[in-house]
Amino acid sequence: MSSLQGRVALVTGAARGIGAATARTLAAQGAAVAVLDLDESACVETVDAITSAGGRAIGVGADVADRAAVEAAVGRVVAELGGLHILVNNAGVIRDNMLFKMTDDDWDTVMNVHLRGAFLCSQAAQKHMVEQRYGKIVNLSSTSALGNRGQANYSAAKAGIQGFTKTLAIELGPFGINVNAVAPGFIATDMTAATAGRIGMDFDAFQKAIADAVPLRRIGQPEDIASAVAFLAGDGASFITGQVLYVDGGPRG
Ligand code: NAP
Repeated sequence: MSSLQGRVALVTGAARGIGAATARTLAAQGAAVAVLDLDESACVETVDAITSAGGRAIGVGADVADRAAVEAAVGRVVAELGGLHILVNNAGVIRDNMLFKMTDDDWDTVMNVHLRGAFLCSQAAQKHMVEQRYGKIVNLSSTSALGNRGQANYSAAKAGIQGFTKTLAIELGPFGINVNAVAPGFIATDMTAATAGRIGMDFDAFQKAIADAVPLRRIGQPEDIASAVAFLAGDGASFITGQVLYVDGGPRG
């Protein structure tokens, strides 16, 4: 029996990138997966990949920063998939700018999607998890939480995610709910392709330059993060909570 058999997972921002890989990995391990993204039609590819591999998935459209949309989405997941055991707060955006050029909108958008989104989704999910005395919440932080030029908004949000994770671990632990964070380094997705574009670098050259500075001498793939999330979402990690797992190819020298 697969380790996540009988579990229902909700992965936000799962139309592409790390979220899509995470949804596929959780499904491959037996979970029924709700693939949530801003636009439900954008979820079709991930849902099809899961169902064509023999898994169970639904697409759900919602903005994670919108309370009513999140509450409706979680209600739909519970009604259609029969519960909610695993929440992966993955949806994210970047609005990089040096501090002196950063607009209010750059700041607010990043805070809203990452922090308010994780808050709203976790709040809606915990009701079901507390009732059933079981749950796993995995939040996506980033090595940028430690500081990254041009990302004052994003690094603040990703550091905030770490405090949020530890606090939820304290509050929800007594109800059998584990809350952890995964902090990826550089992962090849549309998000990092956009960063390369912003600084005027070819994406391949950008990836190579980053890889040269990583101890394992490669950049990460979405599946590298998905497998760490799946570990934390599984019962093999049942005594781990309030932790931040860096998945980044090793510390910078
Ligand atoms: P990505 O390829 O840009 O995918 C992000 C997904 O989130 C997109 O499908 C996007 O939808 C969705 N999304 C954005 N705003 C949303 C909202 N308000 N409500 C619902 N969905 C929303 O990003 P990624 O690289 O896979 O990153 C996934 C997570 O990992 C993010 O939290 C990111 O900060 C974190 N992370 C990434 C890296 C990296 O190197 N890639 C490193 C560290 C941490 P649209 O397509 O409609 O915008």
